[in-house]
Amino acid sequence: MSGITLETVRKEFGDGGETVLAVDDVDLEIADGEFLVLVGPSGCGKTTTLRCIAGLEDVTAGTISFGTRDVTPLRARDRDVAMVFQNYALYPHMSVKKNIGFGLRLSTQLSSAEIDSRVEETAEMLGISELLGDKPKELSGGQQQRVALGRAIIREPEVFLMDEPLSNLDAKLRAQMRTELQELQHQLGTTTVYVTHDQTEAMAMGDRIAVMNDGVLQQVGRPEEVYLSPTNEFVADFIGSPSINLFTADVDGTTLSGPGGFTYDLSAASLVDGRDRVRVGIRPEDMTLVPEGGTQATVNVAEHMGNENFLYLDLAGRELTARIDSAIRPKAGQTIQFTFEEEALYLFDTRTGEAVKTKTDDADADVRALISG
Ligand code: ADP
Ligand code: MG
Repeated sequence: MSGITLETVRKEFGDGGETVLAVDDVDLEIADGEFLVLVGPSGCGKTTTLRCIAGLEDVTAGTISFGTRDVTPLRARDRDVAMVFQNYALYPHMSVKKNIGFGLRLSTQLSSAEIDSRVEETAEMLGISELLGDKPKELSGGQQQRVALGRAIIREPEVFLMDEPLSNLDAKLRAQMRTELQELQHQLGTTTVYVTHDQTEAMAMGDRIAVMNDGVLQQVGRPEEVYLSPTNEFVADFIGSPSINLFTADVDGTTLSGPGGFTYDLSAASLVDGRDRVRVGIRPEDMTLVPEGGTQATVNVAEHMGNENFLYLDLAGRELTARIDSAIRPKAGQTIQFTFEEEALYLFDTRTGEAVKTKTDDADADVRALISG
């Protein structure tokens, strides 16, 4: 087994006239045995990146290596990867047993008895031993996905590539399969790249997550690093549910002033580094209601979740979200005041979107020390 290295991988589609730049000089290093989640909005280039790693697309430029082996010129079948897709593409006329063993039958010299025992072992690992005689149409969505996984696992590939493999499952099963898949991957120790557009899935599953937008890799890091210290406004906005609250504020000395009478006094002017405007970001869980001295906003909707409450607030026509203690229960239409700790404040450059201040510069250093230590 081995890690995967992408060096300035570029993929353009089309020739001459209209070209689409799907993958824009991506550098990415995935450690041996790592579970890396590639996440980003639809059309950002995730599938194309994965297909380049698989060898199903030729790269326009750049190199891809598995360990020290440069696989860029190799075709898919010579790369020793197994892919799992959203569409399981099981053979409908074959039993589960045949479906799982099919690839091995084609690609190895193993005897039928050896293949049978490998199929049984794999089925046991996935908890589908009793389904080996069934046809795909007799199976539930979750069972079909397990068979598709079995087909990939049995080959003991160097690398697993998974493209939104759980998207067709209902929410409950998806959550269950997430955990199973993680456990399985840790057990097998096979380097895995897992693609999803769902940031919740990415946060829950990844050893590290790689956030992509418009073909460009935005940030790679552990889920908590990406959440606490996003490199830019796109990442801050994409990661986290409900999303971070964002608006523009003018800067005068140490005072920020924004929409709806929002004002906030910074402890030091150096935090905005000479800018006269900034984008302000506050996570919903960092919004605190106060009796006075905060910014006034109107409650549009109050959602009582039992363990916590979500408030959807109106601030001069902008919707802000606050996640507050379940004991505090303001009503729709009521005016409240909110504030937040400076420690929790994010600031972004209005022009480039680059992060100027994030939530935990210090804590992030601690996290890094832990990782490297
Ligand atoms: P994602 O998986 O993140 O949704 P894709 O990798 O499928 O994104 O697509 C990235 C971009 O490349 C999109 O603009 C898409 O339309 C384009 N694209 C993907 N495959 C092809 C292709 N075979 N020919 C032309 N354009 C393509
Ligand atoms: Mg895709």
